[in-house]
Amino acid sequence: MTEASILEPAIYAWAGLAVAVAVLLFFIAAPYGRHARGGWGPQISGTLGWVVMEAPSPILMIVFFVVGERRGELTAQVFLGMWLLHYVNRAFIFPFRRRGGQKPMPAVIALQAVFFNCVNAWTCGRWLFSYGPPHPPGWLEDPRFLVGAALFVAGWATNIHADQVLMSLRKPGETGYKIPRGGLYRFVSAPNYLGEIVEWWGFALATWSLGPVGFAIWTTANLLPRAIANHRWYRERFPDYPPERKALIPYVL
Ligand code: NDP
Repeated sequence: MTEASILEPAIYAWAGLAVAVAVLLFFIAAPYGRHARGGWGPQISGTLGWVVMEAPSPILMIVFFVVGERRGELTAQVFLGMWLLHYVNRAFIFPFRRRGGQKPMPAVIALQAVFFNCVNAWTCGRWLFSYGPPHPPGWLEDPRFLVGAALFVAGWATNIHADQVLMSLRKPGETGYKIPRGGLYRFVSAPNYLGEIVEWWGFALATWSLGPVGFAIWTTANLLPRAIANHRWYRERFPDYPPERKALIPYVL
């Protein structure tokens, strides 16, 4: 049994697990941030937790790129650049910009996310840089790449802007919650999640690859139930919450 022979079935199994986890997350919100609650064991600092959780993604992706035989190809370099555009922010900038970030999170959540990020980096990195079907010359001019890359950038910008709106709601030292307004918050409660979902489906399209499709399914599985839980949470806590606002998809959901 070789890594090449188990990678494809592992991606199918991983994506199947995502669907099962999504169903679970509709009933049990992951206990961090606004859904934090007791009974989940020892806690660690939220800032440390975010760095520990997310750092494996960019680090492992770079390792898989360097050891992969496609590292000399421009297409592979562009895919790595897209991944790092997202993950350098998420792992090394975002955790330190969050206000109220010292609020603890369960260590078990951070550990579970480390596992999640390691598997995603493995399935995406090995598929893209070593074992998946190679991309033909001229792939970067293919409409699938161009449309996918445009979606990726639009999703990334939406995610960054929406996270920025949330971070600017609190003054230094504050930890409470306020109603976010402006931008896509006029339409949905979780434009940061919407942006992230669009971003990774854009990446899946741009790479036209199984590993990134599995990751896009996981991102949706994590963030769709949480967007609905966050929306319900806002409505329960803020009597003046804008009634026309949806959870994740403008005018629809
Ligand atoms: P949230 O929207 O719950 O929170 C983001 C930050 O903003 C936190 O610091 C939070 O504080 C603060 N915040 C949120 N709402 C308010 C408010 N109404 N008033 C004041 N402050 C607020 O996002 P997550 O923490 O769930 O996720 C962070 C990022 O990580 C997102 O961009 C998301 O897309 C991404 N992510 C990606 C996943 C994937 O599977 N690819 C999975 C999970 C997250 P506090 O922590 O105190 O609640």
